Amino acid sequence: MKAHGILIRGKWIKSSSGETQESINPTTEKPLGLFQRGTAHDVDLAVDAAEKALPAWRDLPAPRRGEILLRIANLLRKNKERLARLMTMEMGKVISEARGDVQEAIDITEYMAGEGRRLFGHTTPSELRDKFCMTMRMPLGVCGLITPWNFPIAIPSWKLMPALICGNTVVFKPASDTPLCAIEFVKLMESTGLPRGVVNLVTGPGSSVGTALVKHRDIRGISFTGSRDVGEFISREAGLKKVGLELGGKNGIIVMDDANLELALDGVIWGAFGTTGQRCTAASRVIVHKKIKPKFEKMLVSRIGKLRLGDGLKPYTDVGPLINRTAQRKVHYYTGVGLSEGARLLCGGSPVKGRGFFYRPTLFTDVTPNMHIAQEEIFGPSLSLIEVQNLDQAIDAMNSITYGLSSAIYTNNVSRAMEAVERIESGLVYVNSSTIGSEVHLPFGGVKATGHGREAGIEGLNEFSETKTVYIDYSGRLQKAQIDVIK
Ligand code: NDP
Repeated sequence: MKAHGILIRGKWIKSSSGETQESINPTTEKPLGLFQRGTAHDVDLAVDAAEKALPAWRDLPAPRRGEILLRIANLLRKNKERLARLMTMEMGKVISEARGDVQEAIDITEYMAGEGRRLFGHTTPSELRDKFCMTMRMPLGVCGLITPWNFPIAIPSWKLMPALICGNTVVFKPASDTPLCAIEFVKLMESTGLPRGVVNLVTGPGSSVGTALVKHRDIRGISFTGSRDVGEFISREAGLKKVGLELGGKNGIIVMDDANLELALDGVIWGAFGTTGQRCTAASRVIVHKKIKPKFEKMLVSRIGKLRLGDGLKPYTDVGPLINRTAQRKVHYYTGVGLSEGARLLCGGSPVKGRGFFYRPTLFTDVTPNMHIAQEEIFGPSLSLIEVQNLDQAIDAMNSITYGLSSAIYTNNVSRAMEAVERIESGLVYVNSSTIGSEVHLPFGGVKATGHGREAGIEGLNEFSETKTVYIDYSGRLQKAQIDVIK
């Protein structure tokens, strides 16, 4: 089986551990290759390489950095189908979604390439005469990027591209479930003439490689997407580094009695079972008005029954496998929790026997907002239906969780929609559309236990840059702010 290296200073080398680990196709359970089990020592080498590459990269004019990003975007476009198929094999998502994942990387890369000609600071008047005030964006230095497996190319691109356009160099640690996608992506980047050491990649366990990055004294910024537990660990251990955290959600869709139910049904099915429910923005709660609950419940059961599970490479598959056996067990554990809490199982609720980490799309009804299945991130094809009497109750139920990433409301009443938009506690709100559907030129992120910071859009640059404030006094004399009185 092919053994892949780690990338340090432009060379693909073996880890100092001398050990490798496999990446498994979740549909066939067959290994896709061997990947280095990186160590803290490998991280030291990677950080050193990134530090050495930093001055030249930082000093390269941002529009020139943007040109390299544009070359990356073009190569991604040329390789879109190959990368998408690889992603379906390594991560399991259906091929149309895998294409979307690569497309998201193309989009953010082009967007950030354009930022090379903006990277705006601002100018503002001084309170004194003959004095000029402005801000500039400066890179942080070496950044550590730690990514999950559910968007194996899109999420790394959301971190790599803003980091690079701002003039940082990086050490990238991909999830151990999807190292092959990460390596193929970085190989493409390298082939565009990206200087050696600007992007370094170390595969290996979060407990060694991830922790070493988080604690490394010479790393100035950490950008992380993943579980809340690891996010909290990073918050505690990262010291004074700038940290961006995107830690998932328990997203809900409100369906009001005046909603277009067919439209809401499409949105709920896509939100709950797209990517097999393994999106941080997946909808895992439907908060439904009591007047339409019986009807909507029936519609849901019927539509869920038609979903086809299987190999994501087949064009007719709707739902792929979960990422690994642990995820399959976790989803099943929550089915048990739901039943023991008194929720009623309407369909699904069991793993599929045979090869692959498949789980039947699951629907619980009679769920109350405080049940564990309505509070905790299951990260699989499991949906809870919560009945409410009115909009007030719906918004209370929506906000009753610790997370705050995405939310949606289906209604044809604009006043209700606007009230929900204002009162829901989440970073993203959709009206008459599912909880999924971010576009790269808008900020993405959440509130409460979802973490902090925003990725993508102009705000996505903040995570990877510091603001420098500049005063230029051309009066030729000492002027004192707050003390000199100008008349
Ligand atoms: P993790 O948070 O464990 O993994 C995400 C990334 O963090 C991986 O690269 C992982 O490495 C790394 N990591 C793990 N431990 C550490 C550490 N101590 N220090 C630094 N980095 C670390 O998520 P899992 O993949 O285990 O998934 C578990 C649950 O997390 C899911 O069921 C879901 O609820 C949530 N999740 C949320 C995501 C989101 O989009 N917000 C994405 C993925 C998961 P390695 O892969 O080597 O363990």
